Parts: sequence; C-alpha cells; structure tokens
Amino acid sequence: MKYSWLEILKAGFKQNQSWQPTWPTKDPAAAYDVVIVGGGGHGLASAYYLARDFPGKKIAVLEKGWIGGGNTGRNTTIVRSNYLWDEAANLYEHSLKLWEGLTADINFNVMFSQRGVYNLGHTLQDMRDIERRVNANVLNGIDAEVVDAAELKRRIPIMDTSKNTRYPVMGSSFQARAGVARHDAVAWGFARAAAKHGVDIIQNCEVKAMDISAGKIKGLDTSRGYIAASQVGCVTAGHSSVLAAMAGLRLPIESHPLQAFVSEPMKQVLNTVVMSNAVHGYISQSDKGDLVIGAGIDPYLSYSQRGSPHVVDHTAAAILELFPIFSRTRVNRQWGGIVDTTPDACPIISPTKIQGLYFNCGWGTGGFKATPGSGHVFAHTIGEDKQHPLAEPFHLDRFNTGALIDEHGAAGVAH
Ligand SMILES: Cc1cc2nc3c(=O)[nH]c(=O)nc-3n(C[C@H](O)[C@H](O)[C@H](O)COP(=O)(O)OP(=O)(O)OC[C@H]3O[C@@H](n4cnc5c(N)ncnc54)[C@H](O)[C@@H]3O)c2cc1C
Repeated sequence: MKYSWLEILKAGFKQNQSWQPTWPTKDPAAAYDVVIVGGGGHGLASAYYLARDFPGKKIAVLEKGWIGGGNTGRNTTIVRSNYLWDEAANLYEHSLKLWEGLTADINFNVMFSQRGVYNLGHTLQDMRDIERRVNANVLNGIDAEVVDAAELKRRIPIMDTSKNTRYPVMGSSFQARAGVARHDAVAWGFARAAAKHGVDIIQNCEVKAMDISAGKIKGLDTSRGYIAASQVGCVTAGHSSVLAAMAGLRLPIESHPLQAFVSEPMKQVLNTVVMSNAVHGYISQSDKGDLVIGAGIDPYLSYSQRGSPHVVDHTAAAILELFPIFSRTRVNRQWGGIVDTTPDACPIISPTKIQGLYFNCGWGTGGFKATPGSGHVFAHTIGEDKQHPLAEPFHLDRFNTGALIDEHGAAGVAH
C-alpha cells in the first residue's frame, strides 16, 4: 500500500501522543541537601550515583541551558584509559569499566562501541614515549599494545603509512577496549536514571551567585530564585572559573575553545579511531557514516563556542595527509566547545576551603571518556564528605604541594 507524505506525517504525530517525557520537568524546590550545578554528563552522572548510593538525600541538578548542551553534546566521544601515570590510568580505567556495563546499568543504550583507538607515532621519540606508555598500561592491567607501521597498514589499509608524507607514520599504540559512544544518549540516559532515583533535573536555571557565610555554603542565587543547599558540587566544565569566582576562589584553569567537524555521511570505511598528537588531528567514523574529525585547542583564551578557521584548516590538512582517500569529502558542520585546562592536563576533583562546596572540573579536552567514573568518585566525595581514594591525587592541594600528575603526553592533541 502507498502512503502520501502527509499521511505518514499525520500517523507519526498520532503515535507521538503516547510518548512519555524521558524525565519529568521540575520547578526548583526551596531547599535541597545537595545541588549539582551543571547538567552535562559529569553533573548528571554525579547526581545519579549520589542518589543511587546515598539514598534519602534530596538532590537537584541545575542547568543554565539544556541538558547536554555544553561539551557533552559537542565532543567527539573518544573513550579510552591508556594514560601514563598510575593515578590517571586508574581513574580512567575505573571509568572504562563503568562504560562497559553502562547501558545495562542505566537501562539506556549509550551505544558504547569498543572499536579500538590508535595513537600514532611519527618520530623515534614518539615511539619511545609510546613504548613507555604501553608498558606502564600493561603494568596497570590496562590492555595496550605497540603496533608497527606495516601492521598498521594491514589493519587500516586506507591510511598512508608510506615515507612520502611530511611526518611518516612509524607505528602506534593500540587499546582494543577503547572506542566511542553516543554523547546525547549519555546525557539523556544519566538524566533519566537520576530522575528515577528522585533527582530534580532543572533546566534553564543559571546559578548567578553563592550564599556563603562563616566559611560554609548556604545556598545559591539562581535565575529561578534562591535555592538553599548545604552541599553544592560545581560541574560546569568551560565555566568552572566563573563559578569559582562566585565563591571568591581562583582555580588554576584556562578556558579555551576546542573545535570539531563532521563530513557528509558515507559508507563505512574506517572501523576504528586514529589519533595523532604530532600532526594535530584525529578521526573516526560515526555509525551513521559521517567522518568525525577533531583538532587541538585554539591557543587563545575564550568563552566563545566557535573557534578560528585556521585550526580547522590545519587539522583538515593533517587528516588528508594521513587519509588522502578523503580529499574530496565534503564537510557538513563545524562547531566548538569551551574546555577548562589545568597545568598538568589532569582534572580537579576536590572539596574547597568553603565547607560543603566541591569542584569537579579541569577535564580539558578529554573528559567525555571519564563521565561515569568522574560522576562515581565525585558522588562518593560529596556523599561521604571525604575524597574517594581514586580522586585523592586530583585534590586542589596538588597545585600548592607540587604533586602534579603530568599527562600532557597522553592527553596530547586532545581526547
Ligand atoms: C570539540 C570537542 C571535542 C571533544 N572530544 C572529546 C573526546 O573525544 N573524548 C573525550 O573524552 N572528551 C572530549 N571532549 C571533552 C569533553 O567534552 C569534556 O571534558 C566533558 O564533556 C566535560 O564535562 P561535562 O560533560 O560535564 O561538561 P558540559 O557538558 O560542558 O557540562 C557543563 C554544564 O554546565 C552548565 N553551566 C555552566 N555554567 C552554569 C551556571 N552558572 N549555572 C548552571 N549551569 C551552568 C553548562 O551549560 C553545561 O551544560 C571534547 C570537547 C570538545 C569541545
């Protein structure tokens, strides 16, 4: 039987009438035990694990825009755990293990696809660093291997591994359990799971000021009125310094634009993720066929969610050198997010000198992969009012003591 487009449209809308909202729309209550500021993946995951593991607390997530409208909905979704230092590797591996059971845990398909991630090396020094990182990963029980250029060519035939490029590929590290996930689904899944545990998810609610007296947090002034709370967790990615300033604090954070772009969709030709710190680009292919391409940060500080054309230009050139087969591919969209970077390329998960006020930020270019793990350890830190052991090394104090965890090598071009 044939249907006109109008009949199809009408039938579609009719069916939609029985659809339920994914989570209920709530107005803010006068007071909560815990308020999480920021409705990105990390904030929503924090609220979910808090509500699940510390029942009885009245919890809200306040989001100034819409759920997942920040970096969560803007990132290129690479998930991996192959960091160099024990502290970071353990935290990201904790997260990767949570990813592996996440769809079942929150009963929402986050489309976690473990298609593996290659980090390319183009110089002898790159290869030494790769070998060192792979060895460190293996010692930490994290899957990792070194792959030489011939084997890379066998596994990814469309990649140019010849000596004819500016920076010939010499080999790479490979993590097979790494991969990609669907970013929106992560935000929606955590929001729905948190709401099922009684969390109020409140959108269009911007925190404007903090009510602090006698060294304790008392509540928040928001665009939807005053909300009292004895514990507040700030999980506001690109705007962490803005929130910190409301409390009279200064974080060791710089906010930079980070850009990405996607091509028109095409048949599946790339079944893995390829990243290169040296040439500044990385690429994967989404399930619907677009090439997802990302860059390094724009070098200047900015709160603009756009970025400069020369960065896109530079990244496209690097990717085309690795994959000349894509030279005629058309780019569909480009965008930017604001990432909060720290001096050691590691996050801050920490209480502050103000009682009841906590920060979870500084994930820079690579926090998506940590979403469940970050939420889990931050929930514990707030719920117990005591750092989770995995979060301990990421305390703000490290910038006073000098106990930095320098992950610039593994964080690299981003992600
Ligand atoms: C282009 C790009 C590519 C990336 N690629 C990757 C990748 O491949 N892999 C990876 O691991 N990471 C990647 N990242 C980094 C990753 O997206 C971030 O580290 C991570 O998403 C940050 O945590 P979040 O999800 O909670 O932040 P966000 O989703 O940004 O959430 C913070 C929320 O706080 C809200 N907010 C801010 N101020 C206030 C206020 N005053 N009141 C109320 N709400 C407020 C914002 O509106 C926002 O929704 C990428 C980032 C970008 C921009």
